Amino acid sequence: MQEKSVYAAHEAVQRLINEVASALNRWKEENPPHDYWRAPLAGVADASDPLFLRLKQAVGPDHALPRDLLPSARSVIVFFLPFKAELAEQNEEAGVFAARTWAESYVVTNRVIHAVNDHLAAWIARAGYEAGTTPATHNFDEKRLISPWSHKHVGYIAGLGTFGLHHLLITESGCCGRLGSLVTSMPLSATARPDREWCTEKAGGECRACVVRCMYGALASTPFNRHACYEQCLRNDAHHADLPLTDVCGKCSCGVPCSGTRPGASL
Ligand code: SF4
Ligand code: SF4
Repeated sequence: MQEKSVYAAHEAVQRLINEVASALNRWKEENPPHDYWRAPLAGVADASDPLFLRLKQAVGPDHALPRDLLPSARSVIVFFLPFKAELAEQNEEAGVFAARTWAESYVVTNRVIHAVNDHLAAWIARAGYEAGTTPATHNFDEKRLISPWSHKHVGYIAGLGTFGLHHLLITESGCCGRLGSLVTSMPLSATARPDREWCTEKAGGECRACVVRCMYGALASTPFNRHACYEQCLRNDAHHADLPLTDVCGKCSCGVPCSGTRPGASL
């Protein structure tokens, strides 16, 4: 059993949200005019959660365990930076290629995630604990397109949401946004996971809007064709060749019922 949390259960997530928001706001002040995000979310997983072992089947045998990243790991912190609605609207309306703003926000959000990780690591160090961070992206096997640390799967374990038909994590603030995570020796209470599917189709309803939005053959078949998806991401990188690497697409996450909120959130 994990040792007693340094915060009461309800307090840990709010503390983390405050720290992520503080890092985000400082970054925005220092880097105008970039402002692509809504209020952040955060969740915590117990580093000993048996679901981490199952990621070796669900993601790949090389998926790391929290203690591979930090031998003293007790908790895994995951945060989500939801995008503003206009970003999704612009990407939805942009046609075949990713919108310019969508590509730019990807580059910029990678920097923000790095800054948030640094801020959280410093906050953790001041409290007398250790932290281990991983890159926001581009840490995957380029042949198999599998990451040794999947932020979205770790986000699921940390109770941030459930997977949609589009293989993205649907959070309370939807799926349009970016996840970051870090491992710490700080004992924190784990966040409860949702007790039902938040994707309408997976919950037994009818939707499939994301499948319709994917014009590139990645979601039309089962299993997910990750190579078809990545080829479109690389076409977008070539389309926005003047930007740093922008291997993104995101059409399946824009203009769908789970873009900015979880379906049925008000029910
Ligand atoms: S668009 Fe509909 S089917 Fe696709 S993930 Fe969202 S809720 Fe599920
Ligand atoms: S990111 Fe693009 S290519 Fe990949 S599944 Fe979504 S819509 Fe299809």
